[in-house]
Amino acid sequence: MKKTKIICTIGPASLQTEMLQRMYQVGMNGARINTAYGTLDQYRLIVNNIRETADIPIIVDIKGPEIRLRVRRKRIIKKDDVVEIGFNHEEISFNHNFYDKMSIGDDVYIDNGKIRTRVVEKNNGILRLLVTNGGEIDDGKGVNIPNKQLSVPSLSKKDLEIIEFAKEYDVEYIALSFTRSVQDVKNLKSEAEGFKGAIIAKIENFEGVKNFEEILDAVECIMIARGDLGVEIEPERVPLVQKSIIRLCNQVGKTVVTATEMLESMMYQPTPTRAEVSDVANAILDGTDAVMLSGETSIGKYPVESISMMSRIARETETAVESHVEDGKFINISDTVSKAIQRICQNMPVDKIVTLTRSGYTAQMIARLRIAQPIIAVTPEKRVKKQLELVFGVYPVHIDYRNEKDRILAVANKLHSMNLISDEDTVLFTAAFRTVVKHASNLIEIHNIKELMDYTAA
Ligand code: PGA
Ligand code: MN
Repeated sequence: MKKTKIICTIGPASLQTEMLQRMYQVGMNGARINTAYGTLDQYRLIVNNIRETADIPIIVDIKGPEIRLRVRRKRIIKKDDVVEIGFNHEEISFNHNFYDKMSIGDDVYIDNGKIRTRVVEKNNGILRLLVTNGGEIDDGKGVNIPNKQLSVPSLSKKDLEIIEFAKEYDVEYIALSFTRSVQDVKNLKSEAEGFKGAIIAKIENFEGVKNFEEILDAVECIMIARGDLGVEIEPERVPLVQKSIIRLCNQVGKTVVTATEMLESMMYQPTPTRAEVSDVANAILDGTDAVMLSGETSIGKYPVESISMMSRIARETETAVESHVEDGKFINISDTVSKAIQRICQNMPVDKIVTLTRSGYTAQMIARLRIAQPIIAVTPEKRVKKQLELVFGVYPVHIDYRNEKDRILAVANKLHSMNLISDEDTVLFTAAFRTVVKHASNLIEIHNIKELMDYTAA
């Protein structure tokens, strides 16, 4: 089994159950719905099909302050064309109104920077843009206006509808595009009141990078959204930003996802470029929990091949992964105990770690240390079980141990009967004992499983 988790964006190329099954078999661990495209009816179909296929988390990606084009019909625009774009449902328009903030000379990029234009005239609520690099424009394509604070609202009307959908279907994650500050997260949380899943902040512009630490404090998970990030800030800055974001996430045990253009050429070809293979491997060595596929699995020609390629890169690379966690000051008991577990694993041959974890926190604190042993995270919460699917090296299992008198023994028996641990295994168990305090896994027990089974039978 691989340790690195793979998130697949689901779209026309992948939304049928048969396809999803094949994708799951070759290594998909989570499914993303990108709500820049499609309708609520399609999202319902996707959620139902995924749930029929596998017990994996669903991520509903809302666009928040992301700027997108609304285009009545697809068209090609060429270098030196002047195109008119409005803010009010014209032939071509923007989804947010920021007319007043725009000036002559501002750059406007479309489709992750592939199309480049510049404002040459402003008149009556319409921008006239000179095309300096052409291409095809289509409904829903992303727009970047670098170096401008446009103060567009945090959530659109469509986002609010999608948040209701996410609540109704009780999905595991909502991802917030273009998270700029902790205020965007707060707005989402207040609009999503009653939503039980976790929040992923997508870092994709300068403000998100600048305010990263306060954003990290407010969410459970981070996505490095390199597609937009590489246009909003200079592309050459992305690799070091990626490394520093991953390190900060690892340090506190929060899930981090590296996204976009990972195997881009596999949208059209069955094999990736060497540079793409290196990119996936390097993200894993940096310490990412999950890697994500976008166009490759949503509209590409080779969804299954892309996932299986990623799985192969992961398996090969994981053998060399090391912890980047620095020995900092005391955080809580789980923090200390996870470091003790790391020491124990260096000291004696342990085959597996079993953590009894209600919120998933202790599992993540152990996982961040990138120990070689698989971490079986046993949780009584079904939602937590699915959320932990995205964490590096964690194999989540749902067992409701809450009413057991001897929880560790009950869990050991169950895992043994599920063949997840075997007689020859030496297993380290950790749990919170005689406490109901949060983040306080305070017990470590090490057992040879055969001996434990004999001991309890006697
Ligand atoms: P998107 O986000 O695919 O929703 O645009 C990812 C990115 O920008 O990299
Ligand atoms: Mn994006």
